Amino acid sequence: MVSKCANPNCSAEFMYFGDGKLFEFESTSSRATRDFHWLCNECAESLKLQRGEDGGIELAEANQPNGSQFAA
Ligand SMILES: [Zn+2]
Repeated sequence: MVSKCANPNCSAEFMYFGDGKLFEFESTSSRATRDFHWLCNECAESLKLQRGEDGGIELAEANQPNGSQFAA
């Protein structure tokens, strides 16, 4: 299932659960399965995955309510 980061511009490989962020989506296929997509730690800091209007999985900017947490 998941083998690498869902960001096409990133080549990070999925190593173990707990690293980065896993996104789970209902599969759009006829089989009652679930799709898993993974973002590595770095990408998960600024990106998230969401269901697009066309039913596909797309990258989106993550909301960062704690974005000013590290401001000086
Ligand atoms: Zn990545």
